[in-house]
Formats: sequence, structure tokens, C-alpha cells
Amino acid sequence: MIRECIKCLLTSDIPGIVIESDNLCSICKEHQEKVSRYTFSEAEARENLASLKSRILRRRRGEYDALLGLSGGVDSSYLAKLAVDLDLNILCVHFDNGWNSKVAIRNIGKIIEKSNFDLITHVIDWSEFKDLQRSFFYSGVIDIEMLTDHAIFASMYRLAKKYKVKTILSGTNFRTEHGMPSAWVWNKMDYKNIKDIHQKFGRKKIKSFPTLSPYLWLLMKQFGLRANFEEPLNLINYEKFTAIRELREYFDWEDYGGKHHESEFTKFYQTYILPIKYGVDKRTVHLSDLIRNNEISRAEGAKELADIEFPVIDEKLKQYVVKKLGFTGEEFDGLMSLPPIPHSKYKTDVFFINRLKSIRSRIVGS
Ligand SMILES: [Zn+2]
Repeated sequence: MIRECIKCLLTSDIPGIVIESDNLCSICKEHQEKVSRYTFSEAEARENLASLKSRILRRRRGEYDALLGLSGGVDSSYLAKLAVDLDLNILCVHFDNGWNSKVAIRNIGKIIEKSNFDLITHVIDWSEFKDLQRSFFYSGVIDIEMLTDHAIFASMYRLAKKYKVKTILSGTNFRTEHGMPSAWVWNKMDYKNIKDIHQKFGRKKIKSFPTLSPYLWLLMKQFGLRANFEEPLNLINYEKFTAIRELREYFDWEDYGGKHHESEFTKFYQTYILPIKYGVDKRTVHLSDLIRNNEISRAEGAKELADIEFPVIDEKLKQYVVKKLGFTGEEFDGLMSLPPIPHSKYKTDVFFINRLKSIRSRIVGS
């Protein structure tokens, strides 16, 4: 029997989710234990941001105080707003993988104009990226998005070096991004996995796609090699709807609907590919985050799940994605009907990465 959490929308049929005897799910339990670390009075939040600024300025070596990866989505746009408030000199980096929505591009333009921050747009070689994405489709693995995440991180590492920037602002946050089931994603550091999948299914030689070894990645993320990661959204009582309201007022920012729908591919991935091929509805996780963050009630979240027909059958979007990836309609539908294949069926560094992470947490604490 499928059991439901009484607090959020997660159910016992989602891999890794356990509904305990008090009818709370394992993610809500963990949230209850940790949320106090991310809850601040107004004065505390102000103080947190002031000390963040001092840390950043103390570290500065080059022209810029910090790097910020700007997607035009809520979290990264709100980081830009905080950086304006803190009067920081930011180098914004936008990663153009060929799938940006028009709204995202407009938002980035508005943010740059108002903030006066410098912007570098990293346009990826589309023929290479297309070949990588196609090989992920052929491989049958779930986390097609790890390609973009890996490349963004690798680019940040290179830019930090090139511009001598010692701080990278990250939009990672506990309040609105907690509890994604591990079976639905794969470790973005796992370049060996990307390489093996591409070697088996790709056709093109990869020359310019940004990559980073997991060794360097961990040294940077966990030990501050090259630059230090800061998560400003974890220093305030971050709320998605408050952020959207402030962004609208300040930047004339536009909302694009679903979580991470600032990319056309992500929109199609989340509303069509994941539910149809993998039986995954990430809305339950995103809405559950908003429920735990007291931004919507459980009933409102459940209503949103019920009201929107899912998967979303948007033929126009489907044709656009299928054509852009160079598949025929039949070929694409054929790939969609094949069973999912776990990432671990391909070469992987994930066991090594997890070992390094556990060594790190033993040294410095989690
Ligand atoms: Zn729950």
C-alpha cells in the first residue's frame, strides 16, 4: 500500500522515501532536525550578510569580488539582487547551452542593465553538446541534465582561475531545494560516467565541452582550492515567493512558471521525459519544499498536482526538442519506450567521490 506523508506530498512509492510511524516522511523528519540552522531573526540575517561581505572582501585578489552563475531563474537572479544590496562587484557568468527560454534571456538583460555587473556569456559548441545529449538519450540514464550542471561548474572553475576571483556565489539552498530522491539524479562530478556514455553512443570528438576531474572539483568545493563557495540563500530565511515579488519590483523580472523552466530543455525534461520514461514527477518534491517552507499549504500543493494534467503533452515543444536534437519522431518515441538504464551500468567515479566526501566530513564535519 502506498502511504502518504501528512505534512508534504511525498509518498512511500518514491525511492528512498520512508513514511515513519508518526506518518511523517524521512525528508520532513530531516527537515525538522535541520531547519533551525537555516532560520534567522531579521537582525541575524543582516549580520550574516554583513559577515559574508567581509569574508568576500578579505579574500579578494583580482578585480571582482565574486563570480555568480546567472541562469535568469529565481535563485540565481535573487543572488544578483543580494549582491546589489551588498554593493559587491560581481562577474556574472551565463552558460548558454542552446536551450535558454526567451524569458530567461530577457531577465538576464534586465539584471545586468540595472546592476551594472559585468557579464560573460559562455556559448557552448552546440554540435558537441547535441552529440552529448543524444548519447545520454541512447544510454537510457535518467540524469540528462548532469551535462549542463557539470559544464557550468567546470566553467566556473576555469573563470575563477582566469580572473583571480576567490569567491563563487552559489544558489544552493536548504529551504527551497531539499530532499530530491537520490535515485532521480546522479552525481554531477562524475565525468567518468559522462565520458563512458559518450564513448559508447556519441559520434563526434569532444574538444571544447568544459570538464573537470572530480579531484579538482572536490578540492574546490570542499576545501576552497582556487575559490570558496558561499551559499547566501542559506544565510537568510529564503522564500521563493518573496524572492519573486522582490525581483519583479526591482529588476522588472518575469516569472517563467515551473521550477527551472528557464530552459526549454529542462521544461520538456521535467514535464514529459521524466514522467513518461522514468515515472518521475519532480513537482511533488518542489511543492513539498514550498509546503515545508510554509509558503503554501499541503492542500494547495495537492490541488496544483491534481489540477495540471501531467505529463504535459505539448506537441509544439516536443517537436522543437526532437528536431533540435536531430531525432526523427519515431526514433525519439522508440528511445522513450526503452527501459531506463541506471548510471551505474556505465563506468563511474561515484564510489570514489563518495569515499572522498566521507573522508572530508570526518576531517571538517558535514
Ligand atoms: Zn513529508
